[in-house]
Amino acid sequence: MACNNTRPCPCTVDCPRHGICCACVAHHRDHEGGIPGCFFSKEGEATWDRSLENLARDRGILPSGEN
Ligand code: SF4
Repeated sequence: MACNNTRPCPCTVDCPRHGICCACVAHHRDHEGGIPGCFFSKEGEATWDRSLENLARDRGILPSGEN
């Protein structure tokens, strides 16, 4: 796949798709059902909860503790 991102990947999961954003997004779309780690804050990424609800909480769209 011809996609080579030069931006640093903040995801802390050990994964061969670090820095290959199109492969990362396609993987999450097709297999994981979650959102890539780079969409979250550093603290939100560290929860390893890739749900839309956790992203909304992390970004202040939902109050903490609400899903
Ligand atoms: S977000 Fe998912 S696919 Fe992307 S680098 Fe992290 S673990 Fe890999």
